[in-house]
Amino acid sequence: MKSLLIMALVSIPVMAAPHSAHVHGVAELDVVVDGLQVQITLESPADNLLGFERAPKSDYEKNKVKDVAAQLQVPANLFALNAQCKSAKPAVTMPTFGKGEHSDISVEYVFECSNQATQVKLPLWQLFPGFKSLTVNLATPQGQKQLKLKPGQVLDLK
Ligand SMILES: [Zn+2]
Repeated sequence: MKSLLIMALVSIPVMAAPHSAHVHGVAELDVVVDGLQVQITLESPADNLLGFERAPKSDYEKNKVKDVAAQLQVPANLFALNAQCKSAKPAVTMPTFGKGEHSDISVEYVFECSNQATQVKLPLWQLFPGFKSLTVNLATPQGQKQLKLKPGQVLDLK
């Protein structure tokens, strides 16, 4: 039975693997290319975007939360696809700042393109210098793979 269980575990595809631990500076991107549609889900420690992870205290911090939430509503602030694409209103989940020490921000973007996107430039590196590394889980019709990107790098969708 034990060997069967191990076999079952190792056969789990990349996209179903558990998300990496909450590490400041690191964020995770799930990218799914399905025909002319590209879905991008960003999961990040709130610290990467806000610079803090507790309830905002000062007016500066309260405004920062509002500003970041507004910036995330504009897909082009983070992702620039090399195709003609429209995006639906993103689903932005800002932290509720509970009692835990850490909190996350997640955003889902869906791009509907009229031609095939093959590359995604990442203006998010400039907008949010708190990102030091991105772990990308890429799923395309050609298969799945995991990539690590450093500041300034672009994402090839192949
Ligand atoms: Zn944290």
